[in-house]
Amino acid sequence: MQVDQLYQEIILDHYKHPHGRGLREPYAAEAHHVNPTCGDEVTIRVALDDDTLSDVSYDGMGCSISQASASVLHELLTGRDTGQAFEVHAAFVELMSGRGQVTPDEELLGDAVAFAGVARYPARVKCALLPWMAFKDAAARAGVDVEAGDEDSNERSEVKTA
Ligand SMILES: [Zn+2]
Repeated sequence: MQVDQLYQEIILDHYKHPHGRGLREPYAAEAHHVNPTCGDEVTIRVALDDDTLSDVSYDGMGCSISQASASVLHELLTGRDTGQAFEVHAAFVELMSGRGQVTPDEELLGDAVAFAGVARYPARVKCALLPWMAFKDAAARAGVDVEAGDEDSNERSEVKTA
């Protein structure tokens, strides 16, 4: 119970005080995804410096889980090289697909471990994954090889180019 409470506080804190929010220039590509079941929207922009994600900027609206997830994504992936970023991405997708049975790798996932509890609620999993799927699309549009995994099943999401 205490862990759940701590996780909830981490999510609320990112929601109330989002890290790095706002769409910035220059950027290599962007993707806009919507989660119609909850009404969440997120736009993600990636900026690349060779293989390094020099910025992952975002904006959006919707529930606390979707917006906190975007803030955590920004914090975790900005400054990483793309290979590492998709390691984190794969770990997060695995965590969210695990129905609460996956033990998160805290070192790799940082504050994203807070979404472990959310994985038990299928309706909220889409909220948590929304920014991550938008990020993957944006990265693909920027020319990053994102085919390490094939978890991109968010068919209903809508994609727009910059
Ligand atoms: Zn939501």
